[in-house]
Amino acid sequence: MHDFKYKNSGLYAEDVPVKKIAGKVGTPLYIYSHKTFLRHFDAYRNAFDGQPHTICFALKANSNSAILRLLAKKGCGADVVSGGELYLALKAGIPARKIVYAGVGKTEEEIIQGLKARILMFNIESSDEMMAINRIAGSLKMKAPIALRVNPDIDPETHPYISTGLKESKFGIPIGEALENYKLARKLPNLEILGIHKHIGSQITTIRPFVDALQKVILLAETLKSHGIEIQHLNMGGGLGIPYNDEHPPHPEELSKAILPLLKDCSFNLILEPGRSIAGNAGIFVTRVLYLKKYPQKEFVIVDGGMNDLLRPSLYNAFHNVLPVRKNSRKKVLTDIVGPICESGDFFAKNREVNRLSQGDLVAVMSAGAYGFTMSSNYNSRPRVAEVLVKGSEFFVVREREKYKDLTKGTKIPEFLK
Ligand SMILES: *Cc1c(COP(=O)(O)O)cnc(C)c1O
Repeated sequence: MHDFKYKNSGLYAEDVPVKKIAGKVGTPLYIYSHKTFLRHFDAYRNAFDGQPHTICFALKANSNSAILRLLAKKGCGADVVSGGELYLALKAGIPARKIVYAGVGKTEEEIIQGLKARILMFNIESSDEMMAINRIAGSLKMKAPIALRVNPDIDPETHPYISTGLKESKFGIPIGEALENYKLARKLPNLEILGIHKHIGSQITTIRPFVDALQKVILLAETLKSHGIEIQHLNMGGGLGIPYNDEHPPHPEELSKAILPLLKDCSFNLILEPGRSIAGNAGIFVTRVLYLKKYPQKEFVIVDGGMNDLLRPSLYNAFHNVLPVRKNSRKKVLTDIVGPICESGDFFAKNREVNRLSQGDLVAVMSAGAYGFTMSSNYNSRPRVAEVLVKGSEFFVVREREKYKDLTKGTKIPEFLK
């Protein structure tokens, strides 16, 4: 967040006025800070310095090619959940040996793609998937490197939509069934067991669930060892939260302090899969006020960005701080900041006390660097927005705004309608 701040009442991204970028590139748009990305990545790297580790950035948080390239150059790996993400990670120069592949529904083509690329490992989420990967690897005369994603049944105390490690969740194999599944994996000729994977949820703001889950997983690794199954990689997933509002999530340093002692007698390579904690506060979403509707009880501020551009408030009722790009000292009013989409769920902020906005004002929706652009869509046939990367006093368009002609890309009018 430190790299988006006010100087003389104007909001800056590093050393560039947000207003200047919006003026050049138009609105709505995403703006990322190069410096923040690096700082967040380095925080992980330094925190886990004492332990052999691989940091695999979760692409679903932000998969812009320029962002991936900047992380790749720092030695970052990738956590992918689709063939598309695998493609983007490789294309950005992330080496296959630093790519792990999770997801409950990998298709045959995606599995082939991962095998041929020689990724570090597949994180397998069911025994059906295990059989499929074994069969496909066999048909390619290859051995598939694998971990089983286990579900440790830990409550991460976060939003239910982003909790993934409870026993009623669709993710992973219940930890109680892990041993029999590992035994099955060992019998399959085309699998090579490399690790254990867990990921319990996202936007976790306390250390406790990480420690509890890791303890369960270390116990499992010991049990496996006593059955002759040796684990080399222990993947603790991602999920560390960020301050959106007044949360105080632990710093990666605190996480490592709590976790590394648990691993001191083990010789695992530790894999981490942070997404949000690297990208979230490295980006903002900037939108412009189109109209105001004033009612006695509150005001609606209608902006040019919508839920199709930034879905989190609509999807999770997520809180994002909303700041005027130019500070003003107008009266504070109770405000709903809403988009132009034909849905009542199309909002960025509800019942916020903000200094009265006026037409043409720019508004920054903060902490939008993760699960922002990647969740965007063309709903209401709106071209997807531009993305800009700021580095010091320079800025670079890292994704052009879509044009109307992009909306018909790939569509075809059948002969009989011509
Ligand atoms: C989404 C996801 C992550 C990243 O989670 P964050 O909360 O963004 O850190 C990591 N691993 C897996 C398997 C995921 O599905």
